[in-house]
Amino acid sequence: MNDNVVAFIGAGNMARCVIAAMIKSGYPASNIIASNRTQPKLTQLAEDYGIRTCLDNLEAVRQADVIVLAVKPQMMAEVCQHLVEHAPEIREKLFVTVAAGLPVSRYESWLGEVRLVRSMPNTPSLVGLGVTGLFPSRCSNYEKAFVDAMFKGTGMTVWLEQEAEIDHVIAVTGSAPAYFFFFMQAMQQEAETLGFAPEQAKKMVAQTAMGAATMALESQHSFAELRSQVTSKGGTTHEAVTSFADAGLETMVSNAMQAAIRRAREMA
Ligand code: NAD
Repeated sequence: MNDNVVAFIGAGNMARCVIAAMIKSGYPASNIIASNRTQPKLTQLAEDYGIRTCLDNLEAVRQADVIVLAVKPQMMAEVCQHLVEHAPEIREKLFVTVAAGLPVSRYESWLGEVRLVRSMPNTPSLVGLGVTGLFPSRCSNYEKAFVDAMFKGTGMTVWLEQEAEIDHVIAVTGSAPAYFFFFMQAMQQEAETLGFAPEQAKKMVAQTAMGAATMALESQHSFAELRSQVTSKGGTTHEAVTSFADAGLETMVSNAMQAAIRRAREMA
């Protein structure tokens, strides 16, 4: 598998994140090439990971077995159309896209009926703790296994059977780091009101979030069971949790996630 040449078109944050994960899992740097519109990010990637780089997308894709489309969604039509116009043979290669929002049908309108994996990573991929939803179109099992290995170093992968489930992944994991940041921000604000210094409050809240998440991952118990284990009736936690429940926390979370799904559908 490691002899496939992988070309990244667009060398921004998400490309860097996947490249870093591939190198960390032992993928040969000489089989990764990145192209970008401008030089600085390429120089940095070459310095950090020893990969090959170029300023010409066509030069990159012509050498590649796998083409990762990592430009912003609004640039995607122009990039794809330019590629097929000047290198129509790339239709035989495997495509992977990290762009949010664009359905397979849109890529097919630009590239033809190519083999494509749509991916929906989230930002904790940057620290190896991401969740990436993957939807394959026309791919073989070998190609799925290859893409799975590409993303494994960024965290956990979830393969989807229906393209519509990508919108659900957006609500459950794609947008979700911000939900937790929002909650932690509110906790930090209150901790500061109570007199803790901002940096100390931030660390206390983040460490507690990480501790709770780690306990949940390592435990067989459900979230509800874990919660009840630390909530004795009449105690302080019970008072706080009851206050959340009375304020309609579950309905708020459900509404927020449904809002994310609606927006994802509008943007598709
Ligand atoms: P970014 O702006 O950091 O990277 C995009 C790169 O593409 C830039 O370096 C830009 O110079 C380059 N580029 C623009 N036009 C180009 C062209 N014609 N040819 C070659 N390179 C070109 O953006 P990002 O955050 O890495 O996002 C990239 C994609 O990843 C987006 O489609 C986004 O939807 C998706 N994504 C990002 C995140 C995230 O957390 N950053 C999460 C999920 C999905």
